Amino acid sequence: MIETELKFGAHNYKPLPVVLTRGQGVYVWDENNTRYIDMMSAYSAVSHGHCHPRLVKTLEEQSKKLAVISRAFYSDQLGAFLKKACELTKQDKALPMNSGAEAVETALKAARKWAYTIKKIPADQAEIIVCIGNFHGRTISIVGMSSEKQYREGFGPFPPGFKLIPYGDSDALEKAITKNTAAFLVEPIQGEAGIILPPKDYLKKCETICKKNNVLLICDEIQTGLGRTGKFLACEHENVTPDGLILGKALGGGLLPVSLFLARKEVMDVFTPGDHGSTFGGNPLASAVGLAALNILFEENLISNSEKLGNYFLEKLKLFSFPQIKAVRGKGLFIGIEIDPKFYSAREVCLRLLKLGVLTKETHQTVVRLAPPLVITKEQIDDVLEKLEQVFKEGHASVLLAGIQ
Ligand SMILES: *Cc1c(COP(=O)(O)O)cnc(C)c1O
Repeated sequence: MIETELKFGAHNYKPLPVVLTRGQGVYVWDENNTRYIDMMSAYSAVSHGHCHPRLVKTLEEQSKKLAVISRAFYSDQLGAFLKKACELTKQDKALPMNSGAEAVETALKAARKWAYTIKKIPADQAEIIVCIGNFHGRTISIVGMSSEKQYREGFGPFPPGFKLIPYGDSDALEKAITKNTAAFLVEPIQGEAGIILPPKDYLKKCETICKKNNVLLICDEIQTGLGRTGKFLACEHENVTPDGLILGKALGGGLLPVSLFLARKEVMDVFTPGDHGSTFGGNPLASAVGLAALNILFEENLISNSEKLGNYFLEKLKLFSFPQIKAVRGKGLFIGIEIDPKFYSAREVCLRLLKLGVLTKETHQTVVRLAPPLVITKEQIDDVLEKLEQVFKEGHASVLLAGIQ
């Protein structure tokens, strides 16, 4: 199965050597029926757990009724989904897309058109400020604003109009703003960069600076949103309500690609019929699953579980004392362990964990990401803690041995 995938598939990923065949809750099984605990949850797309029964039921029922109609017609599902999303995020309007990258593109288009029609920036002069270390997806314009060499190399030329500033530095934002700045696009916690938490009050300061300068604050909460960091939105940790908000990943309940760009009325109203669209965006099936995914977060206490068990997990990890661990950081069930590359790569840690039945994935060679489904229990976290300890103990012993030899 691995051979076939490698033979017929593009090699744009480097998966761990395990072939998964089914999943339930926090667990997945391989073709030999070996069970693994999933500490990755598809980069937070599976926050509800694998094949959540209520979501599967919603998917099944709606798929038999009506699934895809395009946006050429109204449906009995889309309105309720968007209404709920707007209420929960304190935004006025939402535009449905499918993947995260598409919703980010939507945000960029909205910001630019808002800049020309409302802020009256001269044609084609709008600038959007983004942060070093950002991850917003993989389209040409999005990798064009990335600071990551590999994401860009070989894919130019890129659209102009983006400016990079250091992450976590609100003074840098203030300095970078010009009369042509349309928006500041930022992740409340940088995920792909290695679970990077900005200084306290960073987002609040950015909000104030953006307001003062009539610049839109757009938060990419595709990974940090929907309970991942212990609040519904990571913005809520600092009481920030951005002008634009991007959601994805867990919005599809781990079953479908569902994303949203949400914004204040003034921003969203720049779109008129024909300006933007998506054949599958907001289809009845995606809407039904998206609405259920939002409701389940609250009805099944997934957000408070993320907060409580995230704190517990982080506290326990901070007690680990191994020379291989450079740092442990995170918020809610969004945790990174930074490995000292002197000892081994984060991938090696992931391979050792795989052997012990724990699935996770390195980010940026040095960080092991721990972002399990939010349905995880304390007992399951204790089990993972034990296995992590085992890996680091083994690692420690072999390192010592190597030192002696
Ligand atoms: C995953 C991610 C994206 C891109 O989402 P896709 O669905 O893979 O296109 C954008 N921004 C952030 C913060 C993400 O984590």
